[in-house]
Amino acid sequence: MSLVVTGTIGIDTVYTPDGQHREGVLGGSCAYFAAAASAYGPVQLVAAVGDDFPDEHRHTLSQFTNINTAGLETRTGSKTFRWGGKYLDNMDHRETLYTELGVLEEAPPQVPDAYRGAACVFLANSHPAVQADMLAQFEHPALVVADTMDLWINIARDDLESLLGKVDGLVLNYDEAELFTGHQNPVTAGKKLLEYGPVFVVIKKGEHGCILVHRDGLSALPAYPTETVVDPTGAGDTFAGGMMAYLADQLQLGAIDDPTSFDAIRRSLAHGTIIASFTIETFSLERLSALNPVMIEARYDEFAKMMHLQ
Ligand code: AMP
Repeated sequence: MSLVVTGTIGIDTVYTPDGQHREGVLGGSCAYFAAAASAYGPVQLVAAVGDDFPDEHRHTLSQFTNINTAGLETRTGSKTFRWGGKYLDNMDHRETLYTELGVLEEAPPQVPDAYRGAACVFLANSHPAVQADMLAQFEHPALVVADTMDLWINIARDDLESLLGKVDGLVLNYDEAELFTGHQNPVTAGKKLLEYGPVFVVIKKGEHGCILVHRDGLSALPAYPTETVVDPTGAGDTFAGGMMAYLADQLQLGAIDDPTSFDAIRRSLAHGTIIASFTIETFSLERLSALNPVMIEARYDEFAKMMHLQ
């Protein structure tokens, strides 16, 4: 499986409504995605951090044996991306307390030569101009999917519109789809987003699951019903990690020819859903670091039984 993720490796501070908080934990779109994808197979990461990036976080990343960090640049004199967030009420809404871009304001990291031929590329959350720059460094990926969020929709809309013309798929939250398109209805918003170029859009709505709007049809899946929600941070990134890792694996096995097809994407949603349900059970990457394929398969089977409609 050749799967590459580009994005942020960050230092997060997170507050949850029950009064708990964690300061300076490992986070970032790329870190969460890679941790989730690594439960399925190898994943190669491309990102930059500053020389303030703690050894403890480097050690945590190295514990995920399927994550290849040869593409992680450490820049002397630069600052690591930092983000602080606070969850409100029932954890459905999040307020960003601060975003310190640090290395994100500098030149994007270089994609190592060995990664340029990757079959599947995920452009995890970052500035859309940086995402486009990273994408241009790949040869002929069979599947390119991007994520985005409110900050980029607000400050870099033109870059985002241009990026949408270059990717196969986009994953984003319900609120972000509404912010981008002005449409509250996720199907209408998804169709509007397809007009910018992608083949499919996955719109996520936390505990309410996700909707797939594809050129060839519509699909929807509820979230895995869980009682344990400690910290939803990274749910979106790990959802994408499960989806993309499944598609990369199926492509490698020869089980699918076209990883952008409606049927392939529809099936991948359940893998994203299951991995995300583990992520939210703890802060940071704690739960993901303790996962094994047997635990994922057991929850997948349980979920599949719940979905049995006849
Ligand atoms: P999620 O909960 O899936 O939206 O992802 C949260 C993670 O994204 C956190 O670990 C943050 O460090 C990271 N993050 C927050 N804001 C941004 C941003 N504007 N660009 C890239 N990554 C971000």
